[in-house]
Amino acid sequence: MTPALFGGPGMLDETARARLRRDIEGEVHFDAFTRGRYATDASIYQIMPAGVVIPRHDRDVAAALDMARGMNLPLTMRGGGTSQCGQTVNHGLIVDCSRHLTGLLELDVAGRRAVVEPGIVLDELNRLLKPHGLWFPVDISTGSRATLGGMVGNNSCGSRSLRYGTTRDNVLSLSGLLADGSAFDFGALDPDRLPGDRHSGMVEHLLDLGRREAGEIEARFPKVQRRVGGYNIDALVPPADGAGPVNLAHLLIGSEGTLAITTRIEIRLSPLPSSEKVLGVCHFPDFRSAMEAARHLVALGPTSVELVDATMIGLARSIPMFARTLDAFVRGTPAALLLVEFAEGAEENRRRVTALHDTMADLGFGFGKGGPAEGGVVEVHDPALAADIAELRKAGLNIMMSMKEAGKPVSFVEDCAVPLEHLADYTDRLTAIFRAHGTEGTWYAHASEGCLHVRPVLNLKLDQDVRKMRAIAEAAFDMVREFKGSHSGEHGDGIVRSEFHTKMFGQPIVKAFEEVKRTFDPEGRLNPGKITAAPPMDDRSLMRYPPGYAVAEIATGHDWSAWTGAGGGLQGAVEMCNNNGACRKLKGGVMCPSYRVTRNERDVTRGRANTLRLALSGQLGRDALFSDEMAETLKLCVGCKACQRECPTGVDMARMKTEVLYQRSKRMGVKPRDRLIAELPRMGRLGVALGGLVRLRNRLPLLARAGEGLLGLARARSLPVFRRDHFRDADVSAAAPAPTDAPTDAPAGELVLFVDTFGRWMEPELPRAALKVLRAAGYVVHAATPEGGRPLCCGRTYLAAGMIDRARDEARRTLRALLPHIRAGRPIVGLEPSCLLTLRDEFLTLLPGEEAEALAGGALLFEEFVAREAEAGRFRLPLRQDAPRRVAHIHGHCHQKAAGTMAAVKTAAEVVPGVEARIIDSGCCGMAGAFGYGAETFEVSRRMAELDLLPAVRAADEADLLIAAGTSCRHQIADGTERRARHLAEVMADLLAEAPETTGPGATDPGE
Ligand SMILES: Cc1cc2nc3c(=O)[nH]c(=O)nc-3n(C[C@H](O)[C@H](O)[C@H](O)COP(=O)(O)OP(=O)(O)OC[C@H]3O[C@@H](n4cnc5c(N)ncnc54)[C@H](O)[C@@H]3O)c2cc1C
Ligand code: SF4
Ligand code: SF4
Repeated sequence: MTPALFGGPGMLDETARARLRRDIEGEVHFDAFTRGRYATDASIYQIMPAGVVIPRHDRDVAAALDMARGMNLPLTMRGGGTSQCGQTVNHGLIVDCSRHLTGLLELDVAGRRAVVEPGIVLDELNRLLKPHGLWFPVDISTGSRATLGGMVGNNSCGSRSLRYGTTRDNVLSLSGLLADGSAFDFGALDPDRLPGDRHSGMVEHLLDLGRREAGEIEARFPKVQRRVGGYNIDALVPPADGAGPVNLAHLLIGSEGTLAITTRIEIRLSPLPSSEKVLGVCHFPDFRSAMEAARHLVALGPTSVELVDATMIGLARSIPMFARTLDAFVRGTPAALLLVEFAEGAEENRRRVTALHDTMADLGFGFGKGGPAEGGVVEVHDPALAADIAELRKAGLNIMMSMKEAGKPVSFVEDCAVPLEHLADYTDRLTAIFRAHGTEGTWYAHASEGCLHVRPVLNLKLDQDVRKMRAIAEAAFDMVREFKGSHSGEHGDGIVRSEFHTKMFGQPIVKAFEEVKRTFDPEGRLNPGKITAAPPMDDRSLMRYPPGYAVAEIATGHDWSAWTGAGGGLQGAVEMCNNNGACRKLKGGVMCPSYRVTRNERDVTRGRANTLRLALSGQLGRDALFSDEMAETLKLCVGCKACQRECPTGVDMARMKTEVLYQRSKRMGVKPRDRLIAELPRMGRLGVALGGLVRLRNRLPLLARAGEGLLGLARARSLPVFRRDHFRDADVSAAAPAPTDAPTDAPAGELVLFVDTFGRWMEPELPRAALKVLRAAGYVVHAATPEGGRPLCCGRTYLAAGMIDRARDEARRTLRALLPHIRAGRPIVGLEPSCLLTLRDEFLTLLPGEEAEALAGGALLFEEFVAREAEAGRFRLPLRQDAPRRVAHIHGHCHQKAAGTMAAVKTAAEVVPGVEARIIDSGCCGMAGAFGYGAETFEVSRRMAELDLLPAVRAADEADLLIAAGTSCRHQIADGTERRARHLAEVMADLLAEAPETTGPGATDPGE
């Protein structure tokens, strides 16, 4: 009985569901929303599974397999779901190991080996190994979210595979379950003593197959290191030189979950590479000469040789932060760079770099020679610059991936590997093929292995482009075969490449693959349709954009016109997610804090974007956009905007969330608590009048409990209080201190202090401090008061509740009041990042046009203003010079980080004498506006803070300063540690040298 492959069973009946729920301790999901989130990976394909299992332990995996067998369903294992070829999408059950099966079970430091569970993420594993001076050396680009189970499944290869080999070369043994439910444990085999277990017959059969096919394997398997296509039946052939026994685990590696389920992986570890590294950046005047040189450079024994082409250089140059890096290591205008890394220790590195110079000279290149001989080597010894260069290479790719047009760079021929002597002809001819089909590709990555990445731009919603994709693939693979290369050199087979095995390996080898599949999995239970019996790669019914894919028009609150498609471009913005999974990283950067706490695919940017795409395109049923499931999907998004900056394609989920809340509120209204918080800026005097009650509520648990029941405000959270002594705009024009030793009578400059709701009503000492500091530094400070007198507001609280129309009203009022100042050349300086940065971000999509752009261009955070002025030598603050030396631990607000302002924050803090600024390596504080106050989100909020921020605060010395610009961040720190963090403006104000009171210069409103 063969389970249906594609177009197979969609839904399970209720009896089957009930059994799965009963037998599995972990999670089991059958709802369309969850299944939809597991219907895609980082490929172009989409298949809706029947159910999703998230096992808590091995017994759950066994129970899922048992159920799949009983119900005649396919079963597909999954790790991070970052496969690019459709390996993890299928019908039947999807089993996600990445949430709970994440253990490092054994570590033998002396023997340099470890045993891990399949769901452990590579970078997490290496973090655990680092203190022991060891690592798992398969350094793939997706190491921040790829799991060891997935790496084994795909036989993944890192950029240093030249030195360390592929995953196969670093795995000692595997154990788990075969398709019939029996346990296996495969490792190196003693051919004279086969295991006397129930699998011995199978093993003998496989060894026979190896012996029988040895000649064909020798003739047809490409002789390149990067061959991950098909089954590793070469592992069944004892090495001719007797070098080691047959290792049956190696047959399973790269089998994409089609032969067995892995539950334990025994790996070989390597000593951490020397930190003494040197990069030789080889410059070439034309692309072909770089390709021709690659093999000569590889002969020098580098750890990697990575390509950056002229298009990438150009893309990087367009980003200011990378332009400086380029200036530091690029000479002239090369057409291609090869980044050659040596990591052998100082002396040997020196020797090899000298050899690199000699080789380039022997090849005829020299700086200043001009024309086709222009080139040479730039040495990079500074580790920081080397890291920036690596970052730059990645960023170039990201820009390419973030094209907003309907056509996108598509991955399908992007990891062919050819012997190095053919690299130049291969790249030339493939470029010609792209051009013949009216498209282009940018080349990058692993020149050392002849495995260059390239993605031609296609729009797979169009039949004609799907046809082009097939034509390009066929022509490319023909060429790869001609060069005796590998059509599958890194990312695996999945649906994209499996159908081409006959062309690449020949019929006898493919028959052997089928025999292997039958031997392990006669019923075709495990991940069917991959490697063998594959559907055509261009079957559109299996694609993310099948025929008939359409998104209905909707009237949106934000302007999405930077993208294409329905909803004025909202469709295109949502479809930007290509599932590469960068948002699943667990350390580094700040995206996506909710996922770091829950590890639930629902709570990661990717899960949210996929759910939105499916909802907008009607694949989750009618009105899915307004459903409770959609609200649940977005519930834990804290709107931190980290995805806007860190997602390689710039998926801006924070904005999308406000759009969805807006759409929902149009139908269902806004909940009382959300409305209450949204209206805070308008509460003013009423808020002050209620201040006593709020104070009482903060003291009396009974009242806090009542507030939780009535309004859903977490009882454990203290509430901010509107104060009687609130800040008044009149304070700006009142008498003010003048600089004690102002260098000249002329003011240093003029600015507008934009005072936000929270500073104004709840922490008035903060704007007062800023006013004092700015005046003391010699600036003319203006207030901007709108007609009618009600203070200005950025509209953020309305946005958080999805009340986009109200937010737009506020934005309009604010824009009107600030524009005259902007036109007068005065920057708008604000203290609260989430408010001030709304002027730079959301205003552009609330009120698109030149005026909003002008305001965005002139709005600065206090810290940015200080840093800018200090760097220009204008910010001369009379601060006491006798302050003790102190470390200032700075927690950046998410929006500060998303807007890339942290460097300025550090510079500004170090304007204070004696301060050594250290940015806390923290993500979101977890408060995120109203998020931390919600009874239903309080616990996640607290856990977010406990990830990095609160432990770092507790570890800080009592004498150290704690600085946080965000009002919510300070609140979370106070609630969680009882320590007080302060705004930089307050720290500065405290250190001001005594200043006589005088009337400040020209504090006026522009209306005057
Ligand atoms: C932007 C980008 C860059 C990439 N760069 C690289 C790179 O540098 N090098 C590289 O080699 N790859 C690269 N990849 C491909 C991919 O990230 C790797 O193959 C990665 O190892 C997959 O890990 P995963 O946890 O996401 O596995 P998944 O995609 O979830 O699964 C991979 C395969 O393993 C199987 N599998 C997972 N767990 C098990 C289990 N327990 N038992 C049996 N089978 C299992 C799955 O069924 C599937 O067939 C890249 C992908 C992207 C999107
Ligand atoms: S949201 Fe961004 S980072 Fe996450 S998977 Fe999608 S494209 Fe990648
Ligand atoms: S805004 Fe923050 S929480 Fe929301 S999806 Fe983006 S990174 Fe995650």
